[in-house]
Amino acid sequence: MNNWKQDIEPFLNDISKPQRYLGGELNEIVKDWTAVSCRFLFAFPDVYEVGMSHLGLQILYEAVNQTPELLMERTFAPWTDMEALLRRESIPLFGLESGREAADYDCIGFTLQHEMSYTNILNMLSLGNIPLWAAERGDEDILVIAGGPCASNPEPLAPFLDAVILGEGEVLLPRLLQTIGNHKACRGGKMDRKALLAELAGLGGVYVPSFYEPVYDAAGELTAIMPLEMPGMERKAPAMIKKARLKDLDSACFPTAPLVPYIEVVHDRMMLEILRGCTRGCRFCQAGMIYRPVRERSCETLLRQADALKKHTGHNEISLTSLSSSDHTCIKELVHNLMENFEGEQISVSLPSLRANHFSVELANEIQKVRKTGFTFAPEAGTQRLRDVINKGVTEEALLQTIEHAVQAGWSQVKLYFMVGLPTETMEDVDGIAALCEKVVRRGTQVMKEKGRFGALKVTASVSNFVPKAHTPFQWSGQDTQEVFKAKHAYLRQRIRDRRISYHYHDPFTSMLEAVFARGDRRLAVVIAKATEKGCRFDSWTEQFKGEAWKTAFEESGLDMQALASKTFQLTAVLPWSHLDYGIDPDFLKREQALAFKETITPDCRYHGCSRCGICGPEGGLVLFGKAEDL
Ligand code: SF4
Repeated sequence: MNNWKQDIEPFLNDISKPQRYLGGELNEIVKDWTAVSCRFLFAFPDVYEVGMSHLGLQILYEAVNQTPELLMERTFAPWTDMEALLRRESIPLFGLESGREAADYDCIGFTLQHEMSYTNILNMLSLGNIPLWAAERGDEDILVIAGGPCASNPEPLAPFLDAVILGEGEVLLPRLLQTIGNHKACRGGKMDRKALLAELAGLGGVYVPSFYEPVYDAAGELTAIMPLEMPGMERKAPAMIKKARLKDLDSACFPTAPLVPYIEVVHDRMMLEILRGCTRGCRFCQAGMIYRPVRERSCETLLRQADALKKHTGHNEISLTSLSSSDHTCIKELVHNLMENFEGEQISVSLPSLRANHFSVELANEIQKVRKTGFTFAPEAGTQRLRDVINKGVTEEALLQTIEHAVQAGWSQVKLYFMVGLPTETMEDVDGIAALCEKVVRRGTQVMKEKGRFGALKVTASVSNFVPKAHTPFQWSGQDTQEVFKAKHAYLRQRIRDRRISYHYHDPFTSMLEAVFARGDRRLAVVIAKATEKGCRFDSWTEQFKGEAWKTAFEESGLDMQALASKTFQLTAVLPWSHLDYGIDPDFLKREQALAFKETITPDCRYHGCSRCGICGPEGGLVLFGKAEDL
């Protein structure tokens, strides 16, 4: 078998950042292909620098490669110059470790991190000489799977995928790959594709799209997702597929010797996952729903892992990752001990995802004693009314007090994240964004004056567009139209006159595409295929985005993207993801939607009692350390 890395060597001077395609990093694992039963190619549908900053990749690399009979290698979306080279020289997509071409592996798996990566997936399949449509693949072809947050509604990609992993990959992926290995071993290295897919569907947490048929009525509304008879099984595929979940985060595998890139990547630092899941209950937030229940790693485990990370990487920063870092039960003790352990070693600690409260400022102050970088908060909405609708649980006074504490502690820059287009939003709420930013500037600047400091507090307001997501209380809500989004951004642009506030906003067109695919069904697959044919790649990269090509792809497919994005679903509607069970009770989502429209908050169950989302079972009761069921 050819090592394609050697074939690109003569052209390395012709492409940007050739290290993206060479592998060979510190802590890379290269296994003997003849000594394993299943060879897996993890495919990240974006450039190397983005993919290598993704903790999920490192976790799966560890989880799969620690199993002796399995092998995982990596590949990333080639940048446009590399794609041109691969096509010109007829070099296929290959794995970074062995240089083998994608089609040589037993299985290729894409992580679905966001909707704007979908054309890269099809392009990578095409570069790998893998048939695009699952129905066109035969027993000789590699298996194509996917997982990650957008797998919670994989329907727009379903016709391209053989199987989809729902939930936490480190639980299920090794099991799935072992099943493939055993299946082939029993058949002299050959695959009976349909029989294998039926075996995989029996694993639990694995969704095989070809075993389900969507049914539409005359008006084109989805009325059912019918499970079909599974080949050789004499029974139908399960009506509901339940996500896989990790029983105990504290004892779960964690990559303490992760791959260390030789080029600068987006997050060039050690990553320590301190907890998973969030119970804050923001009603727009998909991660807050699909990663439940909350599970923590103990302080003892984390300190041990931090020590090992330091030994194996040489990074000078450690980031404590989670959806809400200050919610970890022992965060103060953890931060204090880390600072003590790293004293004198020039290693800094960073805490993304802090909530707007005094405690967060104390924590941030502890870790940034010397260098005060910007402080970031996400009030999301400008008025208390709308923050109650979305269950953000932060009051204006709490935010202003946090700003005061931050400025007193030495900060002079703050970044605030907002969204426009949230359900029930009025122009008063939009105006509230500008008004809140002004209050923050005034309060912060006042404190600076009192402290005898020159200058003023600088605020960056970053405003994105609401995208309704599957498995959230706002999954039924339509998105604002392009015109409405544009009018809201135009209003804010002219309304924010204070030079101490800089205003940034997201392009409404890409937000519309995200909404279409986040809640879309299988009819969208043809649009993705057409857009890919028309040259769409790296759609989340502004300079690469081809809006006209997307418009034509929708027109040719007879689909109206604006209508799809702004569609409000009935509460009784069958949704494209209705058969995918992420453990959250649909009645809880409906109750939360009703409470949102009544502007009523649901307090965090961690501190105020169970609100019956369903994830901890019928009895409720928060799970922190390893009491949840596996799978
Ligand atoms: S079941 Fe209850 S305690 Fe468990 S996460 Fe849901 S609301 Fe919280």
